[in-house]
Amino acid sequence: DGLKMYFPIYTGLLRRHTGNVKAVDGVSFDILEGETLGLVGESGCGKSTCGRAILRLYEPTAGSIKIDGEEIANVGFDKLRKMRPTMQMVFQDPQASLNPRMTVAAIIGEPLSEHSGKSRSDQLDRIYELMDAVGLNRDFANRYPHEFSGGQRQRIGIARALALNPKFIVCDEPIAALDVSIQAQVVNLLEDLQKQFGLTYLFISHDLSMVRHIADRVAVMYLGKVVELAPREDLYADPLHPYTKALLSAVPEPDPVAHDNANRTILQGDVPSPSNPPEGCNFCTRCPSVMDICRKIDPEFREVRPGRFVACHLLNDTKMPADPTAAVEA
Ligand code: SF4
Ligand code: MG
Repeated sequence: DGLKMYFPIYTGLLRRHTGNVKAVDGVSFDILEGETLGLVGESGCGKSTCGRAILRLYEPTAGSIKIDGEEIANVGFDKLRKMRPTMQMVFQDPQASLNPRMTVAAIIGEPLSEHSGKSRSDQLDRIYELMDAVGLNRDFANRYPHEFSGGQRQRIGIARALALNPKFIVCDEPIAALDVSIQAQVVNLLEDLQKQFGLTYLFISHDLSMVRHIADRVAVMYLGKVVELAPREDLYADPLHPYTKALLSAVPEPDPVAHDNANRTILQGDVPSPSNPPEGCNFCTRCPSVMDICRKIDPEFREVRPGRFVACHLLNDTKMPADPTAAVEA
């Protein structure tokens, strides 16, 4: 709720504090138990930072983060350490996130020896159990990460994340570094594990087709803010925010001839710097529907229809009826 993650900029010999990179700038949403919330946006929009701040891998600048109703935004190290098993992360690049000098068993077992208090032999049982769960051959427990393919390495990363029976996992572009041919396997594995262990996911991705496949609801980020959040089908069938419309219209169609290319929105210009976002709406420098008010007032992120949240002045003027068919009858 109101989550902000600013990184200070220091300049000059005296390292004066001259500004902030507003990577996450006032973001509010819920993630429901058992669901997959997709968090999408172009690279640099703040989605990974948001995921890391939620897990308290960063110290948030402002805002509240509650997990099971418990505030964790400003708790100390001891409390955080107790909460740590509940929430885990699967990283983008399994190559970079696995220690090359550790065996698979040591990597998967590391959280167990730090947090679980299990005996050595119980830990080993658990390691084998986790290897089974993610589809890794137990015989490979003493091998090193470089002996595995990219997809298998991501399975190791997933097994490590599962070691302490978490409830909530942030998956930060978990398939972006993998060959297309094995992306689907890893996504299917994540879906199976979610069912099996009752997991809740925040699934961060720039791949809109993949998010459409895996997410129950989708949040769209632009320049440090969530601009739209909606149930998956609503978002893809009827995007409301001008940025979501542009983003979806840029997804390649399998059959361009059968689709109306005239509806394509090509955005002009570049994303402004997060250290110097525009006045008013963050999207006003590129929005095809920009109005005067957009350059002055930051639109509120609010529920414009049941379950649909948007930050845009276009939707503030026209109060949407709760049931679109009701308007027709009226
Ligand atoms: Fe575009 Fe204005 Fe809506 Fe921002 S508030 S998305 S600039 S119409
Ligand atoms: Mg990222």
